Amino acid sequence: MKAYEKTVTVSDKVAVRLKKGHPLFHKDDFHLPADVREGTILRVTDSGGRFLVRGYYGKQNVGQGWVLSTNKDESIDVRFFKGKIETALNKRAGLFVNEETTAFRVLNGEGDGVGGLTIDYYEGFFLVTWYSKGMYSFRSQVLEALTACTAYKGIYEKKRFASEGQYVEDDDFVCGERGQFPLLVKENGMYFAVYLNDGPMTGIFLDQRHVRKQIRDQYAPGARMLNLFSYTGAFSVAAALGGAANTTSVDLANRSRSKTEEQFLINGIAVEDQHIVVMDAFRYLSYAEKNRLEFDLVVLDPPSFARSKKRTFSAAKDYTLLLEKALSVTAPNGIIVASTNAANVERRRFKQFVDQACTAKNCSYELLEEHRLPEDFATSPAYPQGQYLKVLIIRITGKE
Ligand code: SAH
Repeated sequence: MKAYEKTVTVSDKVAVRLKKGHPLFHKDDFHLPADVREGTILRVTDSGGRFLVRGYYGKQNVGQGWVLSTNKDESIDVRFFKGKIETALNKRAGLFVNEETTAFRVLNGEGDGVGGLTIDYYEGFFLVTWYSKGMYSFRSQVLEALTACTAYKGIYEKKRFASEGQYVEDDDFVCGERGQFPLLVKENGMYFAVYLNDGPMTGIFLDQRHVRKQIRDQYAPGARMLNLFSYTGAFSVAAALGGAANTTSVDLANRSRSKTEEQFLINGIAVEDQHIVVMDAFRYLSYAEKNRLEFDLVVLDPPSFARSKKRTFSAAKDYTLLLEKALSVTAPNGIIVASTNAANVERRRFKQFVDQACTAKNCSYELLEEHRLPEDFATSPAYPQGQYLKVLIIRITGKE
């Protein structure tokens, strides 16, 4: 079946950007044809009518669709998706044979040539996430391509497009056998309990793999660890396995207590020795400061944006204050792992937050490590915005 295709023309400025490999269609890049639909193939030409790229229309927060091909003779069909998925699978061949790690990203949107789509691997199961109705309109082709390219136990999916990027509540099972949840996956030898059919999140954020390993191997031994915005406590598990003296996991969500207990349990860690606190992270920091609690290792990994009953947290506005409060409870020579996935906070600015907080609290520090997305979260060099993860590991070298 020939896909529904429309031709659109772009200005010289946009043409230059597309020629440089920028994969995203921005809101005002072209006039939309009147009868364009989500998933309509867009053949993009310059003002002289020359072919530039082929992509699709799909509304997301970031833009209105993605470039799929720069080859004027390539059509967007099962063969196209097979090519992308095969290449992506081959790039992760090393991870597929690594017995210590059985959960990772297989295809990362525009970084693997298909903006608006991600595919993750969880111990024999694949999780496909659609970021727009437009991408979802290719569902049957993508699934046909995926199932033809690789062996699998089962496939699950997440629809993140209720209003451009929100999760659509659904039974997420697609085909194959249904998983037994929790599914136990391994990451550098640590176990994590994963649920593929329980809302938008699975229980683990796969992009922090290297950071968890560093916490376990480099910073945990003997440490009193504080993990703020802990979710299922994945960083606490890494610390406990690395020999932390104790861990304190703080998250506002009620579900975090049982989820965190479960992660400890499956790793053979006695839950009684770990503290799990259901509380606002800022409130906990005030409490800790008042009670003169002190930690050797503090992990900060807040959401980019969160609204709770009491306050709205925005990484762009509030991260410096969060760091200042964290510094108050960090022991001399202690380590802070500061992480953000806020796309609107550039790395340089994030470093300034650290600098400003340390200056405000009269602390000196040393930057020990910097992390970005791991290699399986491939990004496009022409689209640095896709490189959203910024992690700074610092040591507090002086404190007044
Ligand atoms: N660090 C986690 C992921 C964090 S996801 C990990 O490595 O897996 C963000 C978490 O922040 C969510 O679990 C959410 O419930 C929690 N959260 C949001 N606002 C909060 C607040 N004000 N105080 C504490 N936790 C909060």
